[in-house]
Amino acid sequence: MASWKDQQAASADAAPPPDFFRKLADSGSGIFYTYWRSRDGTAHRFPYVSEQVRDLFGLDPAELQTDGNALFALIHPEDAQDLGQSILDSAQSLNPWQCRARLRLASGEYAWYEGFSRPERQSDGSLLWYGQFHDIQHYKELEQELRASEAEYSFQAGFQNLVARLSRNFIQPGPKTMDDCIDELLNDVGEYLRADRGYLYAFDDDYESMTKTHLWCRGGIPSLVDPDQTIYLDEGLPWHQKIVWMIRNNQVVFTGSEVERLTREGEDASTLASVFNVPLSVQGRVVGFMGLDFYVDGSWREDLDDLLIILSGLLSGVLERHLLEERLVNQSLKDPLTGLYNRRYLMPRLNEMIQRADRYQEDFCLAIIDIDHFKRINDTLGHMAGDAVLCQFAEILKRETRGADIVARYGGEEFVVVFPDQGSRETALAMGRILQAVRDGGFSFQGKDIPLTASAGLAAACEKGVCEGALDEVLGLADTRLYQAKQAGRNQFVDS
Ligand code: GH3
Ligand code: MG
Ligand code: MG
Repeated sequence: MASWKDQQAASADAAPPPDFFRKLADSGSGIFYTYWRSRDGTAHRFPYVSEQVRDLFGLDPAELQTDGNALFALIHPEDAQDLGQSILDSAQSLNPWQCRARLRLASGEYAWYEGFSRPERQSDGSLLWYGQFHDIQHYKELEQELRASEAEYSFQAGFQNLVARLSRNFIQPGPKTMDDCIDELLNDVGEYLRADRGYLYAFDDDYESMTKTHLWCRGGIPSLVDPDQTIYLDEGLPWHQKIVWMIRNNQVVFTGSEVERLTREGEDASTLASVFNVPLSVQGRVVGFMGLDFYVDGSWREDLDDLLIILSGLLSGVLERHLLEERLVNQSLKDPLTGLYNRRYLMPRLNEMIQRADRYQEDFCLAIIDIDHFKRINDTLGHMAGDAVLCQFAEILKRETRGADIVARYGGEEFVVVFPDQGSRETALAMGRILQAVRDGGFSFQGKDIPLTASAGLAAACEKGVCEGALDEVLGLADTRLYQAKQAGRNQFVDS
């Protein structure tokens, strides 16, 4: 038998069998064709198109030989115009034709195809293209996957940048306050995650109510209408139930529009699509939550829960540090029993005020107030009763003074109240009110009423003029007057 090489050599010059090219064209994965178009473009057909069109598109090649419309009818509407234009361009320039378009398969689905062909002008002015087209769906899918993974990568990188920037903000806030930093966080996170509203709520210690502390809204989105900012948790309301669940489980909670009544205080339920609430915890205890509202259904990412947990970790850490710092400040400048300022806070403030009084002629008054016969309470009812009375006394002082006044525990049962920008007359009136409030105080311990009075000595900064040790002099004057009040029978004040 002749070897393959011999056969090759023998048939090298031989023409291929008559139907060789047609068989070749009908058996490959591409579709070969000739496409004819009349001179005026009104008629077109495929004089030859390989058999595959039958299985792939459900078309009969014999029909396409007389009219090309059936194949053109399969082009995806979004691709039809570009494809038509590309044929006109090729017809005019006689440059090779190339195009990508989706074609509807026999199954009804669309698949991407790419075609190449070369035009030849015929003697009658018509045109004939010789070419092929083939399935590129797989490449298109790869391309889409690549694009999606690039977009995902850039989203994740952007999110990491955002978190890093926000963390830096909190660590080195510059002139910004912590509230500014939180506002900025809500704004940036809301924009990045395409939310419509972002907010923070803080719970009271017993989880009976929650108070809105920060709010961001996308332009055109209304703020929640709860003017007093505080909402009492009522387990009868669906969205409150979700909040309670969030507190118990310390987990992100999602409320979708499937919840029939996504109604919240003062809100039109029909517009809100969904809400994410993320607990914020300090030392293992949920102290509040961050919320994100979305007005368009499904506009959030699948993994939004995970992203929100990262943000809640950041915010929780910030809040924990802030509370710790606040506690440290309170511990060193405030009296632990009554919560009033202590001497360490009071004395430097008084010194500043004395200097300002000198420089700007800003007068101020102060009073030393001492509880009468306090020792008796300790002796008869015990030290605990004494402590309770001191706390109730401190509450009266805070209640009966203005926000700008400084109330401090000066010693055991001695208190100082500083009245900035206030003359002797108003101070005497204020002191009369305070001593009356003490008399009416309703002090009690373990159900036992404790009647109480106090005495006070008042002094104004201007009485002593400005000199070295002016502060000691003013305090000394008030102390002397306190002594005089005690001598005069207690339950009164002396101011001159
Ligand atoms: P007067 O009317 O002259 O001011 O008499 P008084 O009993 O109020 O004054 P005195 O200075 O004799 O007694 C003050 C008492 O206050 C003595 C001290 O044991 C008590 N004390 C000081 N600090 C505290 C405290 O933090 N808690 C309690 N329970 N008692 C305190
Ligand atoms: Mg006393
Ligand atoms: Mg005393």
